Amino acid sequence: MKRWSIAIALAAAVGVGVGIHDATAQQQIQQQIQQGVQQLLQQTLPQQQQPAQGQQAQTQPAQAPLPIKREITQVKGDVYRFQNANHFSVFMVTPRGIVATDPINADAARWLKDELAKRFPNNPVRYLIYSHDHADHISGGEVFADTATVIAHENAKAQIVAEKRPTAVPTVTFSDQLTLEIGGKAVELTYLGPNHSDNSIVMRFPAEKILFAVDFIPVKAVAFRDFPNAWIGEWIDSLKKVEVMEFDILAPGHGALGTVADVKAFRGYMEELRAAVLAQIRAGKTVDETKATVKMER
Ligand SMILES: [Zn+2]
Repeated sequence: MKRWSIAIALAAAVGVGVGIHDATAQQQIQQQIQQGVQQLLQQTLPQQQQPAQGQQAQTQPAQAPLPIKREITQVKGDVYRFQNANHFSVFMVTPRGIVATDPINADAARWLKDELAKRFPNNPVRYLIYSHDHADHISGGEVFADTATVIAHENAKAQIVAEKRPTAVPTVTFSDQLTLEIGGKAVELTYLGPNHSDNSIVMRFPAEKILFAVDFIPVKAVAFRDFPNAWIGEWIDSLKKVEVMEFDILAPGHGALGTVADVKAFRGYMEELRAAVLAQIRAGKTVDETKATVKMER
């Protein structure tokens, strides 16, 4: 059960150095761990690709493709959540324009743009902010680029350009923090260090006390993508930084809304995994032995 999750811990062992000072040995272990991660990912990818809240998919397996669920719901105050199938972003409406976040993809973005025009006429999207560089969240940014300034972390821009992501290239970037003010409202953008990517930011809406965070804080689930790119020690540090931020509602990029309790629960899980795998590796166990031993069942 959840054997793939061991992959996280294996990489965690690398992240904390494992007390191994011989460079060659460390490299070998790192290679072993990377192999284990890849194997585990391959075993588990089909499950990961299922919808997080997948009742629909489970009751109608692989017949006619379901229509893509698209929906706008008010989270609180001026902040709304936009759903496109299993992906979510948020937006904030102000009298001077709308602040949108991940466009998700071009079709989704066109749908959202039409809906916004109907619901909030003559109030275009003035800012478009990407959570990180991954294409499944930020494709289609060009749909809003006619009226919006596109913002992302500086490392995200580098990836978007290098990987030719199918989206608008950000024109405003930042390294640590950026606060946007528009129409009497604010959005605080913060970079917490590498975690799920090297360019993931969180977006805090201070008036509503909502935090939008994508792909590095699963809510009541353990859902990982792009795991081989992850930085485990720094990831745990990121979670600790989120825990001390002021927010009531956590709006993730997948699945249900959460709270700070979900952040703490997930951080605890990551720390336990890391500790369990470290103990195995310090005892001289191989990656396969560690995978067989560490189950993290509760
Ligand atoms: Zn991602």
